[in-house]
Amino acid sequence: MQTVLLYYKFFHVRDPHDLRDWQYDLCRKLKLKGRIIIAEEGINGTVAGDRSSCEEYMSKTEEKIGKLEWKTSHSEIEELFPKLKVKVRPEIVTFGVKVDLSKKAPYIDSYEMRNLYNSEEFDDYVIVDGRNEYESRIGRFKYAVTPDINNFREFPKWFKKNRGIFKGKKVVTYCTGGIRCEKLSAFLIEQGIRDVFQLHGGIHRYSERTGGENFEGEMYVFDARVHVPVNFVNPNIISRCHFCGKSVARFKNCKNQRCNSQEITCEECEKLYSGFCKKCTKNL
Ligand SMILES: [Zn+2]
Ligand SMILES: [Zn+2]
Repeated sequence: MQTVLLYYKFFHVRDPHDLRDWQYDLCRKLKLKGRIIIAEEGINGTVAGDRSSCEEYMSKTEEKIGKLEWKTSHSEIEELFPKLKVKVRPEIVTFGVKVDLSKKAPYIDSYEMRNLYNSEEFDDYVIVDGRNEYESRIGRFKYAVTPDINNFREFPKWFKKNRGIFKGKKVVTYCTGGIRCEKLSAFLIEQGIRDVFQLHGGIHRYSERTGGENFEGEMYVFDARVHVPVNFVNPNIISRCHFCGKSVARFKNCKNQRCNSQEITCEECEKLYSGFCKKCTKNL
């Protein structure tokens, strides 16, 4: 059994390279794998390992940089990440557009989000998925607007084309663990959208706290699990096999290494087409 930790924190890092080396040594010592990004604006990480190592990782990291909000999950898959990567980058989540994080949107918590769906005010809101199209393809909040983007950096451009959706509406943004909403919500406010809220702790915390009611499909994750269940109250499947249209929550990477495209594929079609995607099958 593997424990998976997900966390981020915005704070001023005086020497990102120093923190990078410290994190790298700690993870090596504890045999943790995963991805950690450090910038002057903070730290963003997801690591996996055995339970006691993860516990030590959390306490050592908090001793070093202060309190953190951890999101924890578990998996039977032993090799969740192929390796350990700890990198220094200009941003801990790359948005490309400079935003003033001191003007980020207020949070709404998981329970407020759940209650919003049952409130009379719901129609005054637009729920915006802050993730990529391939993530929302396998799961999203009911009625959410899901941007057709392949990278977080494309959000500002998407917004400018789709401004109309937001007219006269209050906005709730959500993402996997909350980090993308910190920037995206500040961006929306800078763009003149007045009532913006961000879901605190993202889908991850929402599932833990509320059982995931009104989340349709599953949550995409950036490790070997690919997607995990969220909704234990009224679950359903929203994705369809890209070959036969069968309702299935199952991502497969195309066997053609140069293509490697990730498509919803049922087990039968994976066998039938020997693991290739539709595009590569046509080109055979
Ligand atoms: Zn199929
Ligand atoms: Zn392919």
